[in-house]
Amino acid sequence: MKKAVLIVVALSLLVLGSLAGYRFARQQIFWELGDQLGIASEEAGQVQVHTEGEVEEKKLQDAKKAAAAFNDFANRYMGASLKRPVELYVSGDEASYQIVLEREFSLSPEEAARVAAISGGWSGGNIHVAAINASAGVMSGHGDRYSTTGHELFHQLQYELSHGKDTEKKALFWLEEGGADYVGALLSESLGGTPFWKWQSDVKAELTRVKSMVSPQELQHCTLEQRKELMGKEYHTYRVADMMTIYLMGRYPEEERGARLAAYYHALAEVGKGEEAFQQAFGQELADFLQEFEHWWQSFRQQPVVFHYREAESKISRERAEAVMSELEASQAWLQRNLGGQITGEYQVVLTEDVSSMTKALAEYTELPQEKAESLAAHSLCVENGGLLVLNAGNLQNEQQRAFSLGMLVMRTYEGQVLADAKGCGYAWLIHGAAYLAGTSRQSAVSGYAVADFMRSNRKKLEGLNLPRVEYLQSEEDFRKAVEKYGDENITALTELAAYDLIKAHGWGSFANYLQETALTRDGVKAFKAVYGR
Ligand SMILES: [Zn+2]
Repeated sequence: MKKAVLIVVALSLLVLGSLAGYRFARQQIFWELGDQLGIASEEAGQVQVHTEGEVEEKKLQDAKKAAAAFNDFANRYMGASLKRPVELYVSGDEASYQIVLEREFSLSPEEAARVAAISGGWSGGNIHVAAINASAGVMSGHGDRYSTTGHELFHQLQYELSHGKDTEKKALFWLEEGGADYVGALLSESLGGTPFWKWQSDVKAELTRVKSMVSPQELQHCTLEQRKELMGKEYHTYRVADMMTIYLMGRYPEEERGARLAAYYHALAEVGKGEEAFQQAFGQELADFLQEFEHWWQSFRQQPVVFHYREAESKISRERAEAVMSELEASQAWLQRNLGGQITGEYQVVLTEDVSSMTKALAEYTELPQEKAESLAAHSLCVENGGLLVLNAGNLQNEQQRAFSLGMLVMRTYEGQVLADAKGCGYAWLIHGAAYLAGTSRQSAVSGYAVADFMRSNRKKLEGLNLPRVEYLQSEEDFRKAVEKYGDENITALTELAAYDLIKAHGWGSFANYLQETALTRDGVKAFKAVYGR
């Protein structure tokens, strides 16, 4: 009896097994026949853009522009394009995005609300529908809108090329998302959005500044629940996926990259296993790649900063560029000598001639709105935007001015990196004062005057003025108000002098400790007491 039951079970398993095999084979044939018979034609691969709720016209136009350009771009880049029609829903706000998620993706209201709260776009390959929330941060600037649209449409292409095997169990999650961001960024560049090098440097910059991030090992096969969990800010999941993809693609000549990405999806359609498809497309075991990446990343994030001068984007003479770049290096060396710390990561440096060329560079290479670019250029010598530094070199021609400004810039950048999420937690007077003092220290090195000489003139400047005690300039807001009330120059002199008195007594090392302690406790007052005992 028992035996008979076993046989029946075994038989039904066999039948089930072959049925599953049959279904698999039939699907495969369907996909291939579809391609051959032209059921899936180029025309059929068009993207229909729909709106839900009130969508800002400029946002809709950009999404439409990216959607219309997607197939030609994908064909050029990777020799593949959408063969089936895709419905793209652009929603005006989170509520209408949620409506689309419910109606088009059949999500329950609770589920749709959760997805809407954590994502700016969603794609369902099996139903050939993608959705975008036009009010999300990922749709702010022109470039963002092109790349977000490209990202969601690339998910559709992933589905088609892999014959629906771009699922959590089969495909590699990081390559799905990293690849979509990568292709989106390239599409954006081709449409006049921010350049691809800027996107890459922003990814590196963001990751080198975070205190913790998800391990690449955890981004291989992720269920929907895990993916939602991984959307948590502290994981930086998408940036890690982007970095892995950038690193992977960077190992091949530019003209090969798109084809290799497409090859991965073709292989996934064949073998149904991400690890194997990866091996076929990129010629390396996934486990080896992950190890290599981890190794590279650990050494990259600890290396002293690399200032990469973008000559092609800069319109100033080589001689003047060299003067600026070597002062940046000298300031970094000063920092290392005095504080025992350094800026890490990589910056792309664009040098401009004057306010108008700085405005132009900011508008061209960042997602800053025109008015913001104009006001920043009018009021700053240097603007840091992600992994990009744009400097007004026209105001850095005088050697002392250059040393002061760049010394201060390097210190500000260092403070920002050490404090990271605790930015704004430190004593504002000390954070600003120390940066001015770093600038003056560099100025002293090139001018031959002692720092003490500069401080004497500061003291003179402040004589007889009725200024607040620095202790009252605790928050950034206090600092800003004081500058408004008493003038930039007076507050600069006041805070620099206070930082000087403190550092003269305790050394620059104490300030490095103060930054570390503030980053740790997120409490600048407590950190001050711990380091300076008062
Ligand atoms: Zn995605």
